[in-house]
Amino acid sequence: MEDCLFCKIIAGEIPSTKVYEDEYVFAFRDINPQTPVHVLVVPKEHVCCAAAVNGDNSVYVAKCFEAIAKIAKAEGLDNGFRVINNCGEDGGQTVMHLHFHLLGGVKLGDKMI
Ligand code: 5GP
Ligand code: ZN
Repeated sequence: MEDCLFCKIIAGEIPSTKVYEDEYVFAFRDINPQTPVHVLVVPKEHVCCAAAVNGDNSVYVAKCFEAIAKIAKAEGLDNGFRVINNCGEDGGQTVMHLHFHLLGGVKLGDKMI
């Protein structure tokens, strides 16, 4: 999709630090990491947000979570990690291409917000 930052990163038009890629998923380090490990896990199909997930595209969500398990292992997050999705304006989403934040490398607090 034109003018989508993450579509451009997936296409290699904007550089990123890739940590994982397969047929369905592209994953790269967040430019502004909130934790020692902060990876963005992104479906290769442009889906705007969690609110747009449906039976036609949910395979991408499943593949993202398969990738998350592999990346967490590769990054040494054996003691656990957190996965976050921000959806829409109230959810704090700033890039309108579905993505999951994989956060770890530190003991995170028990508060969700
Ligand atoms: P959101 O707020 O939409 O859930 O998350 C968007 C994330 O994308 C933010 O954590 C932000 O730091 C990250 N981000 C924004 N622009 C870029 C970029 O050009 N490259 C990378 N690697 N991350 C970006
Ligand atoms: Zn996109």
